[in-house]
Amino acid sequence: MAEECRDERFLYLISCFRPRLKQFIRVQPVLDRLPSLSAADRERVRAAALQRGEVEGAEELLRAVERGPRDCGWFHEFLQALEQGGCGLAACYVNPSLSQLPSPAEEADHDLCVHLVQLLHSTLVDKMQTVQVAEKCLQMGIFQDDDLDRIHTVTDNRGNRDGARELLSRIVQKKDWFSSFLVALRETQHGDLADDLSGNTGENRENVMKNSTNEDTEVTSQPRYAVVEDLKQQEDVNGSFSSDNSALETSIGKNSLVPESDVCIGDGSVSNLNENLGQSRTASDSDEDEVESRVSPEPDLILRDYQMEVAKPALNGENIIICLPTGSGKTRVAVYITKDHLDKKKRASEPGKVIVLVNKVPLVEQHLRKEFNPFLKRWYQVIGLSGDSQLKISFPEVVRRNDVIISTAQILENSLLNAAKEDEEGVHLSGKYFSLIIIDECHHTQKEGVYNNIMRRYLKEKRKNRKLAKANIPLIPQPQIVGLTASPGVGGATSNSKAEEHILKICANLDARRIMTVKEHASQLKNQVKEPYKKTVIADDKRRDPFRERITEIMSEIQNYCQLYPKSEFGTQPYEQWVIREEKKAAKEEKRKERVCAEHLKKYNDALQINDTIRMVDAYNHLNNFYKEEKSKKTVTSDDDDDDEPAVSKQDETDEFLIGLFHAKKKQLKELARKPEYENEKLIQLRNTLMEEFTKTEEPRGIIFTKTRLSAFALFQWIKDNPKFEEVGIKAHYLIGAGHNSEMKPMTQNEQREVIDKFRGGSVNLLIATTVAEEGLDIKECNIVIRYGLVTNEIAMLQARGRARADESTYALVASSVSGAVEREDVNIFREKMMYKAIERVQNMPQEEYLNKIQNLQLQSIVEKQMKAKRDQQKTYKKNPSLVTFLCKNCHKPVCSGEDIQVIENMHHVSVKKDFQTLYHTKENKTLQDKHADYQTNGEIICKDCGQAWGNMMVHRGLDLPCLKIRNFVVVFEDKKTTKQIFKKWGELPVRFPSLDYAAHCPSSDED
Ligand SMILES: [Zn+2]
Repeated sequence: MAEECRDERFLYLISCFRPRLKQFIRVQPVLDRLPSLSAADRERVRAAALQRGEVEGAEELLRAVERGPRDCGWFHEFLQALEQGGCGLAACYVNPSLSQLPSPAEEADHDLCVHLVQLLHSTLVDKMQTVQVAEKCLQMGIFQDDDLDRIHTVTDNRGNRDGARELLSRIVQKKDWFSSFLVALRETQHGDLADDLSGNTGENRENVMKNSTNEDTEVTSQPRYAVVEDLKQQEDVNGSFSSDNSALETSIGKNSLVPESDVCIGDGSVSNLNENLGQSRTASDSDEDEVESRVSPEPDLILRDYQMEVAKPALNGENIIICLPTGSGKTRVAVYITKDHLDKKKRASEPGKVIVLVNKVPLVEQHLRKEFNPFLKRWYQVIGLSGDSQLKISFPEVVRRNDVIISTAQILENSLLNAAKEDEEGVHLSGKYFSLIIIDECHHTQKEGVYNNIMRRYLKEKRKNRKLAKANIPLIPQPQIVGLTASPGVGGATSNSKAEEHILKICANLDARRIMTVKEHASQLKNQVKEPYKKTVIADDKRRDPFRERITEIMSEIQNYCQLYPKSEFGTQPYEQWVIREEKKAAKEEKRKERVCAEHLKKYNDALQINDTIRMVDAYNHLNNFYKEEKSKKTVTSDDDDDDEPAVSKQDETDEFLIGLFHAKKKQLKELARKPEYENEKLIQLRNTLMEEFTKTEEPRGIIFTKTRLSAFALFQWIKDNPKFEEVGIKAHYLIGAGHNSEMKPMTQNEQREVIDKFRGGSVNLLIATTVAEEGLDIKECNIVIRYGLVTNEIAMLQARGRARADESTYALVASSVSGAVEREDVNIFREKMMYKAIERVQNMPQEEYLNKIQNLQLQSIVEKQMKAKRDQQKTYKKNPSLVTFLCKNCHKPVCSGEDIQVIENMHHVSVKKDFQTLYHTKENKTLQDKHADYQTNGEIICKDCGQAWGNMMVHRGLDLPCLKIRNFVVVFEDKKTTKQIFKKWGELPVRFPSLDYAAHCPSSDED
């Protein structure tokens, strides 16, 4: 009975102090100390913390505790978990004895101290030696080991400033932290900071806290420190208190010190309060009643005139495309439309749900963190989803629980596909699930892209509705569609009518009633988006290039040897395509000599291309590394453990010829590569441009766009090796894609983010990027944008130019005169003009004509899709795995049958053939390390007979498995007639392989 009573009191305490509890709980350490919590609850809490931040995680934890089931002594366990998990302050609030419950005065003190830390936040972050202070706090018993570990990690990985933020976000959750913190500061030579914090300055005392909760406060602070980071972005409407609070939120990010509920404590009706605000905030901000002023407000969501101009039809519920140049606040418009939409739905008591689709993973977090969350989180649940954020709960569940979902299009597409299956849960595109769909970078809604697959479903529904309407049956509600783009492009059109058709097609695919560009407020837009100064630097390369000459000599010799003659010039794209075709053909025909020669010619052609853009030494290294690998693969000795095989050279005659040829010329190439007088002219021009731009600007910040990962990396190396660059203050880093390709190891999302953060912070001021940075990625304004020999299309040009938007910025194209890059850039400028004209014509089209055209194009799109589906169905008619066998691409030894192949995670194809290991050798692979948690790639596996690479060993849940790459094999089909084929990807095979039968491969338990 007493126990029950205590339970109730405990629950009552949780409900009373929920908002405070939530901000004082660190989820993970508490979870670790709650053994009786069910695995499902645990998972839910962890997922919430991971995806929506600590406060939401804490909320989920409290819900789990409230839900029960509660065994005897459960609250004791929870209390202890809080205490031992470093959340002593939280524990004070739920202790049923009430002996430690902070009084209102103590609470006010606490809040005041938190506020002081906020005011001095930027100073503390700048000046505090994080690790010393943290260690002191540990000694003094304010921090626990958990805290210190985390602060160490953050400081090590992200620097002292981020470490300081972590420290501050943690310390304010502790019990009686303020005086100890002052002592810790003093004892670590931060007396000045302690003085500032305690107001012990003796001059110009001013009570900045008068808006705060406690009017009798004695604590003061100097206003000169009340400069908080990121302040300039926010318009300060509600006085210093508000701007400081919101600025703090931005600077601390997820572990926000002051969750929005902070100041609502004591008010039982937090939700009501929020609702009130939801309506009053946009209506008026003069409403200075007590509650209003106590709430830390969000930054104001206000559109500029030109933004409002293009958003208007969407606010009236129309489907439109909004065309706004880079740097004009396109995403802000989307946030505004989202909020307006949800507010209206709420007022009408209708369900509202918005999904924002993006085409690149980093955009999810960026939109969430910078735009959607700061403006919407007070009123609506916003969540970001991308492929790498590993869904812990199903997508439909995420959709149910949130008001705004920011997601990569692929995740929605997957769920739509799931919905079509019987036993899977998925979502539909109907208004039942979403009431507004916002499509970012919507010019990608074309052809077979994911965006278009999604939109085709929408168009189909729309046609169904038309039929229902005729039969007087109620329609299926459809979501509103809003597309955003900086530039829809002209789709390669060379005539005005084609350009117009391209624009119309995109309008049709998005079911847009119109496409909006800024007209009335064009001058305001022009002021907002500054056009950079443009220049073209042409490298007129007429010098002798003996390095190139040597390489083409070698290539000619190889061509003669294997009797293969190309129709195109050395070092060109067509040559590359030709040589790849020849290699495939030779593999299928089992012509080993021709195949190997083609493979090597490709490497020399690469080297020529590298020599054209970067240094000779990069080209030389490319070849030298390749031949080193070749040699080591083809002179493999036996594995360590089977010593009955002697070391044998696996080189055949062709291998010997090719390796010998390279070694004969190697020394000469190496010497040439060292001679700066033969360096390519483009690189010299690039150096001059960089020198000029970085010396003439006060705070230079630049991006070089280049074509390949290899060139991005090599340019980075070039800059590092050249002390002149450092002298003018250039601090460079490369930024490349996260996707896998064979050329180079990708950067992880985290690595990308880190580099971008450094660029934003200024410790890097020159990025060398492949096209990843071209679109959408939020990169701080640059004053120098250089496209290094890279011209793609008018969309990319506009986007790259959009990066250069600081005052006095320069956009330069560095290209050689023979590359055609300059001419293509001209074409792009021409296309840009053509595009604006085409948009204008579409806008001026009589509505009826426009709708008619759109409707026809929509029908065409649906029919095209159906035709394609039919074709695909014929093509992917799934064949029985037993019909295929795999041969080593090089020596044509049979490797295994299709029946030996099983798949891990729909991705990795492993051979489970019995005694398979007798066919291959493993070789250490230093460069590629897969970072996936559950498996890692170990060595490369190569053919025992000929040294051909086959794939990698991978460790999957404790099993060593040989994972094969399809492009290293000739696939033999024993269908009606026998055919041989080469595939680049497993997905191209018309065969489906079963998933890995894990149990069958585990060593049985009676083995020892
Ligand atoms: Zn082989």
